[in-house]
Amino acid sequence: MKRFIIHVDMDAFFAAVEQRDRPELRGKPVVVGAPPDRRGVISAASYEARKFGIRSAMPSRTAFQKCPHAVFLPVNFKRYEEVSSQIREIFLKNTPFVQPISLDEAFLDLTHKAVDLEQAIHIAQRIKEDIYKKTKLTCSVGVAPNKFLAKIASDLQKPNGFLVVREEFKQAFLRPLPIRRIWGVGPVTEKFLKGKGFKTIRDLQECSKQELVHRIGSLAQSLYYLAHGEDDSPVQSNRQPKSMSRENTFERDVRDLEVLQGVLADLAVEVAKSLKEEDLKGKTITLKLRYENFETHTRQRTGKQYTDQAKVIQSVGQELLEQLWESKRAIRLIGLGVSHFATPEEEEPLQLQMELFPSPF
Ligand SMILES: [Mg+2]
Repeated sequence: MKRFIIHVDMDAFFAAVEQRDRPELRGKPVVVGAPPDRRGVISAASYEARKFGIRSAMPSRTAFQKCPHAVFLPVNFKRYEEVSSQIREIFLKNTPFVQPISLDEAFLDLTHKAVDLEQAIHIAQRIKEDIYKKTKLTCSVGVAPNKFLAKIASDLQKPNGFLVVREEFKQAFLRPLPIRRIWGVGPVTEKFLKGKGFKTIRDLQECSKQELVHRIGSLAQSLYYLAHGEDDSPVQSNRQPKSMSRENTFERDVRDLEVLQGVLADLAVEVAKSLKEEDLKGKTITLKLRYENFETHTRQRTGKQYTDQAKVIQSVGQELLEQLWESKRAIRLIGLGVSHFATPEEEEPLQLQMELFPSPF
């Protein structure tokens, strides 16, 4: 299935935060990291400092040699974290499928949010604008059918860039780029590949898979697909919970089926509400019963469809209750949960959902 992935990368993040907060530093070479008279490296450099050849991860002493009049500042991690969480809030308003890579960089999966690429582009533009409105900081954004392409795209037009890679042009997009643009290709691999005659991604694209295996061995496996713009790695959000559940403990143990059914209906409504808030749908529904002696039993059912509907959750919950509560023993606690959430690709595309409504014509 077609995916819409975006990669958002803040521009010279630490240095940009410092320049924003201290207007006297704007337009000047600013370097954040270890002081130049000590051992240690640069964490970030403003674009003005980069003109002198200063790069992050460079020893501070080297940076000082390249630009002695640069302003060297210590890392103010707490401040950057605050700004980072403001940015993350903007991401999460748009989708729960957010994979932060660092304080200033994240992948977002908009597949279930966008009907088509144009809509995904629109959402991505809005995220970029919202970040600027909220933080007065610029970022660069790549929009693409996968993470690999989105990351390259966000990097190519820095700073304040916005680049879309369309599925049909992905091979042409990659063709002229040097092989070190491929993730996983560091200096050592680059040297090895150059030794084998591969300089640009075009050189890789022009080889059949067998030929590539013959020439570069085990590296061929992943490089072949990446060189053709293929990457199916998912956006892994660590925020997404494994299940959504609610439970109710009775003040007095209950044996009345109607009372249990009533509580179950309320729990279903609450679970459905939370699912909708988090933009999640699940297909496994679990009922939990705890008896007066604290013995706890659960029973679950996995349906074919993903749901966030209270009625569906409730009716499956009722059936499970009837099956599980054969003993009619006194119940202390009843719980209802939904799990086995849809990944963005599994979720029904918006277009299909809309087609469920009758056409006005
Ligand atoms: Mg960055």
